Amino acid sequence: MVRDIFTATAALYFAGGVVMSAVSRGDDIEARARTLHFASIVVDTHDDTTQRFLDGDFDLLPRNRSGSIDIPRMKEGGLGAIFFSIWIPSKITGPDAVKHALDQIDAVREQARKHPKEIALATTAAEVREARKNGKIAALMGVEGGHMIASDLSVLRSFAALGVRYMTLTHSGNDEWADSSTDKAAHNGLTEFGKDVVREMNRLGMMVDISHVSDKTFYDALEVSKAPLIASHSSCRAICDAPRNMTDQMIKDLAAKGGVIQINYHVGFLSQEFRDAEKADPEINKAIVAEVEKRCGDKEGCQLIEGEKITREYVDKGKLPRVDWTKIIEHIDHAVKIGGVERVGLGSDFDGANMPYGMEDASKLPKITEALLRKGYSEDDVRKILGENTLRVMTEVERVGREMNSQR
Ligand SMILES: [Zn+2]
Repeated sequence: MVRDIFTATAALYFAGGVVMSAVSRGDDIEARARTLHFASIVVDTHDDTTQRFLDGDFDLLPRNRSGSIDIPRMKEGGLGAIFFSIWIPSKITGPDAVKHALDQIDAVREQARKHPKEIALATTAAEVREARKNGKIAALMGVEGGHMIASDLSVLRSFAALGVRYMTLTHSGNDEWADSSTDKAAHNGLTEFGKDVVREMNRLGMMVDISHVSDKTFYDALEVSKAPLIASHSSCRAICDAPRNMTDQMIKDLAAKGGVIQINYHVGFLSQEFRDAEKADPEINKAIVAEVEKRCGDKEGCQLIEGEKITREYVDKGKLPRVDWTKIIEHIDHAVKIGGVERVGLGSDFDGANMPYGMEDASKLPKITEALLRKGYSEDDVRKILGENTLRVMTEVERVGREMNSQR
């Protein structure tokens, strides 16, 4: 049997954890959490690191000073599977959008090709488990925004053939066939073509992602889809009133059809206080945008990373509230109370958003496991939240796809 790197890492951390807890905590939860965390498959359904590959010099192998994701820090944090987001702004449409998406898909595949000892490209839940068995991190892809198919199902099929396993129906603007939560409604949810997109995704075994979409688009997708949906990086609107977070009713309805909400760590989706402060002083946001432009020009990977750094500078100066990582636990716990422990997962938004203090990068992930254990969650429930729920929904989506294909 192959001895996997995670087991080795777990052993190292376990030893470290025992020493640490004897000094600091005087209990065994920290050590138990480390063991559990590194024995679980941790799945993150949304990371915006892809943009950085295209900026030129970024590579996943070495430890990086900036951003949240690279191989050393993913290993330290026990991250077993990561969905790299294929994302371009909603305003880019048509053939241009397709070309940009293909470049990003290629960039993710190239990272897997360059680092075959560390990373395995995966397209099914079984392949994620296989990667883990072989001591590798599974790399998956999700297209974030239906505008990238240019209203053409053949493009959707090509994305699927290249390994894309979810598509977010919109990004922050409406696309040609679906309304976004942060744009003026134009289609009353999904158009007839939009419904065809959902059906074709079902057949292809691609997860339908409803993060970012309007409430009406969500309900249309829920009605049309033959497979459970995911909200790959959304949090709870009951705690933070962002239009792209999910209401309790939406979480209930998603859960009733077997779907999973993967909690987003972005401070503006976690904390009402942060949102209110941003709204109260719009000049801060304008200044941040201007400074990002100055530092990065049109390099999107750079913009995402620098945007976070500059926001932190405002927090450090006391101009924006400081949001602690424990807010993530609050959202997880709320979603579990509403939808059930089988219906919640993790979708960080690393490298694409402003992370809370204490969750700066993937190496901090074991804290989530420890916090859930301290809250009284069973080890089995923690394992579900860390990744098993997402793997289950993937398996179910794959099954629906096979079934639809066999009926033709
Ligand atoms: Zn997003």
